[in-house]
Formats: sequence, structure tokens, C-alpha cells
Amino acid sequence: MKEHSLSLYNTLTRTRQPFRPLQDGHVGMYVCGPTVYGDAHLGHARPAITFDVLFRYLQWLGYKVRYVRNITDVGHLEHDADEGEDKIAKKARLEQLEPMEVVQYFLNRYHHDMEALNVLPPSIEPHASGHIIEQIEYIKKILEAGYAYESCGSVYFDVTRYNADHKYGKLSGRNIEDLHNATRELDGQQEKRNPLDFALWKKAAPEHIMHWPSPWSEGFPGWHLECSTMGRKYLGDTFDIHGGGMDLMFPHHECEIAQSVAAQGHDAVRYWMHNNMITIAGKKMGKSYNNFITLGQFFSGDHPLLEQPYTPMVIRFFILQAQYRSTVDFSNAALQAAEKALQKMQEAYGRLCALTAADKSTVEIPDFMKICQEALDDDLNTPMAIAHLFEAAKFINSAADGNIRLSQEDIDRLKEVFDEILGEILGIRLGNADSGADLTPYEGAVDLLMEIRANAKQNKDWGTSDLIRDKLAELGFNVKDTKNGVEWSLK
Ligand code: ZN
Repeated sequence: MKEHSLSLYNTLTRTRQPFRPLQDGHVGMYVCGPTVYGDAHLGHARPAITFDVLFRYLQWLGYKVRYVRNITDVGHLEHDADEGEDKIAKKARLEQLEPMEVVQYFLNRYHHDMEALNVLPPSIEPHASGHIIEQIEYIKKILEAGYAYESCGSVYFDVTRYNADHKYGKLSGRNIEDLHNATRELDGQQEKRNPLDFALWKKAAPEHIMHWPSPWSEGFPGWHLECSTMGRKYLGDTFDIHGGGMDLMFPHHECEIAQSVAAQGHDAVRYWMHNNMITIAGKKMGKSYNNFITLGQFFSGDHPLLEQPYTPMVIRFFILQAQYRSTVDFSNAALQAAEKALQKMQEAYGRLCALTAADKSTVEIPDFMKICQEALDDDLNTPMAIAHLFEAAKFINSAADGNIRLSQEDIDRLKEVFDEILGEILGIRLGNADSGADLTPYEGAVDLLMEIRANAKQNKDWGTSDLIRDKLAELGFNVKDTKNGVEWSLK
């Protein structure tokens, strides 16, 4: 285990706390995953990347991490307050598909997008529809504790009763009186004792295609329940980290806490973490604003708001240039700046790999590994870590331009910083930014061609030398002669 002073902002206590896992050397982490009824958009990329960096960082520190990210494939209704049609069932009805066909189709596409963004797969990716029995058992516990009631075949969580014993709203900082005033009476709520009560089990209407037997009715579980149930099943009664977007804080996570306290007697989570939102030109992203851009559209550039395509690595770098708790505003200019910055970073890495060592460094290189780790320990301050990497890049460029000289030891240390901080932890692929491909197998082949070209030049065989350069240019390579030898990169 590496020494660290990692501290994380806990949304529940609203304080920064030193990170100490419940069990030495092990971390349990749960993050709310997607509802798979449509393609992932920029808003999905942020939690995925934020908690991917945390997952990667904890592992780099030496922890064994069990990372659970669920798939919501049942019970997420169209409107708040448990009303409307199930989002997946609606898609299935409109497209004349089996609901699980809709789920599989969009899940495959989600995985494809995540892989492009270099988001590591979680340790367990449980489906809500695969845990109906556990959810029914969990509802029984809440009923036994007296915090839920049955009504017309559905089961609702009794928020008023719960609030009398525990405080409802402590995560989001809301109080029940304000919530009462803000809640509109909606149709179909006569089943509930109180409009704030939320469904644990819903009786399925005859046209509802996804339903399971239960002691109360043929029906389906409420959306909030799956995370309490599956978190407990895979991470235990109490676990370390629960993450998600800020938009999930209320009502989703607030309801999760209420369910855990009702069923288990205590909140299951030690550190609640929330990433902030991405806005587009200052506006929330959403279908109604007509600014809804999927990740696929970013990668292809095929959307009227986009001036050009952006590679997955540019999107990832753009998101990491902000600390996860601050807002990020999307614009073409901001993404183009991220693209340039990433290119500079990758160029510096390429130049670092091509550096020839001197016996002794002519300048003192700061301990970048240590200062980058301090930035990450500081509640995952990724923009600070990136700023330090740019400082390191200045030394590299200066050495590549021949202004300073670096020893092999310093070159190796810088390489380690880029490989581990930028590559392993921030998850930036250090190969070519545009293809997102791993160039390692090809590097040797291109280096060999460079060697043949150098020999040809030495023998004044200009024909061969130019042929190699021109052919590589046709294939999309940049070949540059510098005073330290030849540098190449993919255009
Ligand atoms: Zn959740």
C-alpha cells in the first residue's frame, strides 16, 4: 500500500474527510449506473469518468476495490412521484421489441462508449431485473419496521412516519415542510397517504409488460430500491463509497438512505460523493432544450451544435480539466482548447520517449510523482494534477529542444509520472489521440523504418530516405528531423 493523505468531500456531512476504508486494504464502492433506454450523452460521461478515476486511483494506491455499478432496467418511470410508464417498457412498446432487447441493445452501446472513453468496467454490473427476489425481501424488512404500507397492491414508503423518527432530507438539505409545499398533487396519488411517499412496489397495470409476482401483487419494484438492495447484497450492510451525479441526490439517494435506515437501522454508506453537472452554453442538458448530444455524436461530429468531431480522449481530458465538484460548461471553443492541450501533452510524451540521456541533468527536476499525488489526494483535484504534468512537459520540451540535458534517471522518472498519473490514473491513452488506438505494437515497426531511413541518409541514398518519409506521410505519419535525431507521430 502506498502512503497517502487522500481526503474526500462527503456530501452527507458537507465536510472534507480523510479517507479510511472500513476494512484495511479493501474498498467497497457503489455508483448509480445508467437507465438503458437511450444512447449515453455527455452527462453520462462525467460520473463514469469521475468514478473511474477514483477506482483507478484507489487501486494505484494499493487498495483492492470492489466497484459495483448497476444497470437500471426496470421501474424507472417517466415522471417523478412514481407515475407514468416505465421508460424501457415504453421504448419496447414503441419499437415492438422485448424490453430486454431494448436493454441489451443500449447496454452494448453504453459499453462501447465507455470503452472508447477508456472507462474501466466495474467489478460487478448487476441488473435490477435480476434482483427482484432480493428487492421483495428488502421491502418486507421495511414493512416489518413499520416504515411502509400496502395500498391497492402497491407498497409505499411512509415518509412522514420515517421523518418523525429520523430526519428525511439530510443528504439534500431539504426539510419535509418545504417538500410538502413544493409537491403538486398528481393524478393517481390517491393510493398514497401522502404525496411525498414513494413506491417500493407498484402493482402493474394490465398493459404493463414487465412484472413479477410478489406477496402484494403482480408488479415491479420502485427505482430507488434497487440501489439499496444491490449495494447491500454485494458490498455488505455498510460500505465505503456511494457515488453518482448531483442530479441523483434528490430524490434518488435521499430515498436510498431512508430505505437503508428503515430496513437496516442505519445508513449503509460512509462517504457520499456527487459529481457536478455539465451544462451546454449555461443550460442544463435535456431533450426539451434541444441541446441533447450523445457521445456517439461527439465522436462523429454529427450534430448541428458541433463544429467538428471530438475524440473520446478529448472528451475525457475536457472533463478531467475540471474538479469533479465544479460545473463544466460545454462549448466548441472549450473542447477545441482541450484538444490542443491534450495534443501538447501527448507530443511531450512522444518527445520524452525519444530523448537521449546525458550523464548528468543540467537542471533539477521536481518530484512530479509526489506533487501529482498530493493533487489527487486533495479530493481528486485532477486539474491540479494536469497543471503539474504541463510543468513536467516544459522540462521535456526544453530537453528535446536541446536547451537543457537530462540524465537517464530523470528521463525514467518523468516517464513513470506520465505513464502512471496521466495513463494509469487519469486514464488518458498515451498513443495517438485521434485514433484512440494503442500504438505500442506499431511503434517498433515505425522505429525500424526510421533506422533504415537514417542508414540510407548516412549512405546518401536520398531515394530510399525520401520514399520512407513520403510513404509514411501518406499513411498519416508526421516525420520530423530534429537535431537530436528523428521524431515521428501520427497526424
Ligand atoms: Zn442508484
